[in-house]
Amino acid sequence: MAASAGPEIERLISLLAKLPGLGPRSARRSALALLKRRDALLLPLADAMSQAAARVKTCSVCGSLDTQDPCAICSDPARDASLICVVEEVGALWAMERASAFRGRYHVLGGLLSALDGVGPDALRIGALIGRASDGGVREVILALPATVDGQTTAHYLADSLAKAEVSVTMLARGVPVGGELDWLDDGTIAQAMRARRPA
Ligand code: ZN
Repeated sequence: MAASAGPEIERLISLLAKLPGLGPRSARRSALALLKRRDALLLPLADAMSQAAARVKTCSVCGSLDTQDPCAICSDPARDASLICVVEEVGALWAMERASAFRGRYHVLGGLLSALDGVGPDALRIGALIGRASDGGVREVILALPATVDGQTTAHYLADSLAKAEVSVTMLARGVPVGGELDWLDDGTIAQAMRARRPA
């Protein structure tokens, strides 16, 4: 490590190193870039982070992140409330929005079922999804989950759990590469997978 840096800089580096995609080496480079560009980067970033920490919250309806609760999507009367698209994480919701492939509402699970990692149904927002799907205003639940083992296990579990609700349950078509996370896909692929969805 950069043993000559002071404790404030070491703290900055060790926090940056916890970000996805940043190891210790790129964390040191990022810290240096921030410190060298104090006015252009460091101070605006610190301000943006403190604003986000103070104002961003989890939508109590869909589980997305926004400064308002319910979020802008859940509160938008122009969006079709009878369609719910189920995604693993907020990143996948953002990918769907970038692709402009969907004009309904979302439900963010907060993860996937995983026997290996000990993630069971109670750890995810599955009860809330069944509640929303059963309230009478929903006609279709679209499972937009990754084509991984955990993604497909979760999709089957949800399809079973939603069998009692009077909704059709569909999945994205698999133009999606195996193991593909939604937020890595280009917009056209997502849009096509949404159009060609099939019964779960
Ligand atoms: Zn919402």
